[in-house]
Amino acid sequence: MIIKLVNNLTNKEFDNIINYLNSNHVEYQKIPCSEYVLSVVGKNNPLQNTEYSKYILSVDCEKSYYLVSRDYQSEDTVIDINGVLIGGNNFAVMAGPCSVETKEQISSIAKSIKTLGASVLRGGAYKPRTSPYAFQGLRETGLEYLVNAKRENNIPIITELTSLDNLDYYLANVDIIQVGARNMQNFEMLKALGKVDKPILLKRGMGNTIEEWLLAAEYIVSGGNNKVILCERGIKTFETYTRNTLDLSAVVAAKELTHLPVIVDPSHATGKWNMVEKMAKASLACGADGLLIEVHDHPEVALSDGYESITVERFEKLMSDLKEISPVFDKKM
Ligand code: PEP
Ligand code: MN
Repeated sequence: MIIKLVNNLTNKEFDNIINYLNSNHVEYQKIPCSEYVLSVVGKNNPLQNTEYSKYILSVDCEKSYYLVSRDYQSEDTVIDINGVLIGGNNFAVMAGPCSVETKEQISSIAKSIKTLGASVLRGGAYKPRTSPYAFQGLRETGLEYLVNAKRENNIPIITELTSLDNLDYYLANVDIIQVGARNMQNFEMLKALGKVDKPILLKRGMGNTIEEWLLAAEYIVSGGNNKVILCERGIKTFETYTRNTLDLSAVVAAKELTHLPVIVDPSHATGKWNMVEKMAKASLACGADGLLIEVHDHPEVALSDGYESITVERFEKLMSDLKEISPVFDKKM
């Protein structure tokens, strides 16, 4: 639970409260912000019916995150990546192949998607694959090709970080660091990313609740990095027709609960290229701030996720449709 204390506490009063909590073995943390806000483990308010209850401003038993909440900041966070705005009334499209495959492939896709109005180039170099026998990504070479495509086309890049060993290279060369669904609760990674000055795209884990997702974001923001973009990418349900189940209601919930930008990845969410365009438009309609979408020049020979990648031609039509309908949903493209 989150307990907000009155703002005009004296240091002495605050120390007394802290001493009381310590001596009663209450598990709590002071949230790093200018107000007096405590995160207390459990659903019982330890200050209730004590002499300290007079210092309580508000108690929220439902939530355990604060810095990412609308309660802390009511207006939308807008992240500026060299002039590309993410959040607020902007709709940002990040597009590119699942994996960087060759220098020519990523450069050519970068050129196409930029011309069609995408604002960020995606491409995986270190790929988290279910099977150890599946293509694992070009790794360092893939990063080099991606950075080359960024320079040639003057477009920001996003790529997944799978190990903190590579963090320095990412900080120097990558514009948005992607935390994949499988690493959403890699708490040491989240803590390290809280200490850097770099936008982070935090995917929702396929088995995680909205609250767990927002708490993962709180890990990063409480470390000092408030440039977090949330990404809904589908969750595991009993349904097997689609790769995952795209939880668009989570987008609506996250937009209500947090000030952080929320985008959707309709590619991994559905696992079917023929569903991607419709789900992309549905994402715009339900209030998302953008998309992360797999686009390939030859999906039929892609080294990963070709079955959920749309062609450049389909991407062109999608971008034109999104541009046409975005004003209806108060979004600029
Ligand atoms: C990806 O976007 O390349 C990816 C692997 O996605 P996820 O982490 O959502 O599975
Ligand atoms: Mn993929």
